[in-house]
Amino acid sequence: MPYSVRPPPSGPGPGSLLDESRSGIYTCGACHAELFKSGTKFDSGCGWPSFYESVRPEAVELIEDTSLGVVRTEVRCANCGSHLGHVFDDGFGTPTGDRYCMNSISLEFKPVD
Ligand SMILES: [Zn+2]
Repeated sequence: MPYSVRPPPSGPGPGSLLDESRSGIYTCGACHAELFKSGTKFDSGCGWPSFYESVRPEAVELIEDTSLGVVRTEVRCANCGSHLGHVFDDGFGTPTGDRYCMNSISLEFKPVD
């Protein structure tokens, strides 16, 4: 049997939406509130899908997180409070300079035409 490269395992994982390049909207996996547009997604190299801004400022809730001894800003769904990931201010080259580093497990993607 010839050796062949198997496709990556399917199913949800922290980076499973990383290579999603279709146009659409990313919604909260828990309550389906709209969170991010595909047009604000960029490749930050962090291994998780990254966005430079949320669909609306009030769509997400930002909470200071000092749990690892460093100050990070946790991002939660403003509608249901689900943890989504963290936002960092090192989104170099993006319009906002922000990098929303989101866990694919917390998001759902809805493609649009
Ligand atoms: Zn939610």
